[in-house]
Amino acid sequence: MDTQRVLEAIQKERTKQIGKWGDQKHSHGKWLLILQEELGEVSKVILEGVGFENNPHLVEEMVQAAAVIVAWIEDYTRPIDPQIEAELRQLYGGMDK
Ligand SMILES: [Mg+2]
Repeated sequence: MDTQRVLEAIQKERTKQIGKWGDQKHSHGKWLLILQEELGEVSKVILEGVGFENNPHLVEEMVQAAAVIVAWIEDYTRPIDPQIEAELRQLYGGMDK
C-alpha cells in the first residue's frame, strides 16, 4: 500500500471509531491503555501468523492502532472551549496554548 492508501484506510477506521464511540476525550493514561490494547491485537496476529506475509488481518489491526493514535492527537490538540478560554483570559490575561 502506498502512503495515500494507508492514510485513507486510517481515515476510514477513524470514521468507524467515531460512529462506534463518538467523540472521545480521555486522559493520556487511558489513551495509552487503549493503544496498548490495540497493539496487543497486532502482536496476537503476528504470533498467530508467523510466516504468513501480507496478512490483511495484520494490516487491519495496524490501521486500528494508528487510528487510535490519530484520535489521541485529535483529543490532545482539541481547541480549548471558547468560554473557558475567555474566563481564563479574564483571570490571567493573554495565554499561550
Ligand atoms: Mg484491533
